[in-house]
Amino acid sequence: PPRSAPPATRRAPPPPPALGPRAVCGACFCAAFEAEVLHTVVAGRLLPPGAVVAVGASGGKDSTVLAHVLQVLAPRLGISLRLVAVDEGIGGYRDAALAAVRRQAARWELPLTVVAYADLFGGWTMDAVARSTAGSGRSRACCTFCGVLRRRALEEGARLVGATHIVTGHNADDMAETVLMNFLRGDAARLARGGGLGSPGEGGALPRCRPLQLASQKEVVLYAHFRRLDYFSEECVYAPEAFRGHARHLLKLLEAARPSAVLDLVHSAERLALAPAARPPAPGACALLDGLNRGRPRLAIGKGRRGLDEAGPPRDGEPERAPAPEAVPAF
Ligand code: SF4
Repeated sequence: PPRSAPPATRRAPPPPPALGPRAVCGACFCAAFEAEVLHTVVAGRLLPPGAVVAVGASGGKDSTVLAHVLQVLAPRLGISLRLVAVDEGIGGYRDAALAAVRRQAARWELPLTVVAYADLFGGWTMDAVARSTAGSGRSRACCTFCGVLRRRALEEGARLVGATHIVTGHNADDMAETVLMNFLRGDAARLARGGGLGSPGEGGALPRCRPLQLASQKEVVLYAHFRRLDYFSEECVYAPEAFRGHARHLLKLLEAARPSAVLDLVHSAERLALAPAARPPAPGACALLDGLNRGRPRLAIGKGRRGLDEAGPPRDGEPERAPAPEAVPAF
């Protein structure tokens, strides 16, 4: 749970009626959606009054909706917003997405800061990482690197703008996919940190939260539609390689059989308690960059064991090792 308790005068509004399968007009839907997010933030004590909030802005629908809703709620929450965008250096993708972020910043009159992997990580861009990992002869696992590096980049960007808190646009479907992926790979480190609505800021990091975590993807898309939000909707060129796609497909099958599957999975992760011994640290940006700089890109990716390159190819009779864990996208 977040450390900072809200002042006594700032009580959580009563939970709004659930956005269930009833017919409502666009205006009522948007009002209910905003009320739900307000309730999530206040009841979860996610953003205290006076917080300077860095919104991880990718130009996609989730972060666009998040920035817009928080801008609407900012006067009531007593917070101020800064947009922080990360340029991963992905040719043919990120430039167009950043253009959408710039349009949003201009339209909403919000300050925007862009931080680039190339500047932060000694010249490494995601395209360079992809070329390097392709040489390993295994799955490039670009998202594994990208997720870890982007988490660091967003932290750097947020500090640059004087933020006290970071918010990201993960919705309920994103979180359920992440829970599934981590279970399927037995990734206790990420399962341990994946629950709750955010983290209070361990190890000197800024507190992070996900105000849309209880909103479904469909609700986010509908909100963007009714509010006529301008966002970038193309998929990253490396996304088709990601293991997340399998988790997404599986989740759709589960949801067809059990409509509450998405939120059930999110709540499962919140209630999951892992013994300390089952929580090896997840690889950090420094370890990944070290592996890249040494020409051994898979070094240090793993669950508390030697990296795949270091371990070498599987020996005769040894099963293929599990793919590296794929980090949660930062926004
Ligand atoms: Fe990065 Fe993967 Fe997302 Fe592309 S799909 S931006 S490589 S995390």
